Amino acid sequence: MTTTTATIIRCPNCQHKNRVLTAGAGRPRCGNCHEPLPWIVDALDDTFAEVAEKADPPVIVDMWATWCGPCRVVSPILEQLATERAGELKLVKVDVDRAPGLSSRFGIQAVPTLLVLHGGEVIARQAGAAPVGVLRRWFDEAMAKEREVS
Ligand SMILES: [Zn+2]
Repeated sequence: MTTTTATIIRCPNCQHKNRVLTAGAGRPRCGNCHEPLPWIVDALDDTFAEVAEKADPPVIVDMWATWCGPCRVVSPILEQLATERAGELKLVKVDVDRAPGLSSRFGIQAVPTLLVLHGGEVIARQAGAAPVGVLRRWFDEAMAKEREVS
């Protein structure tokens, strides 16, 4: 069974609509202008390994739920960050109600919970919504720490 599917991502630079694989090596670029594309995909229990753990760029995981108000606030903020940092990170959104395995594996007590995953390892974790400046710094600090270690 293959879990690789595609999603349509509009290029923020030239508005070209690109068909982008949800998993796979490398980092997607626009087929028209060749700028890096924001890589924003959904994953569930059966696709998470392929989509998030094996991803080449670091991953921000957004553990969210349809009934959660703060999740609706933080989702567009994360999409903004993924667009700003196109080519540097991948945003993976997990609906916790449809992903019981991931919720228990990551011990999700509240939504939204945000994780930074690098090479399949959780390197940072944040519970609750936060403004874009805070999340940007949170991500950058996690990556800086990661670079020190390696
Ligand atoms: Zn483009």
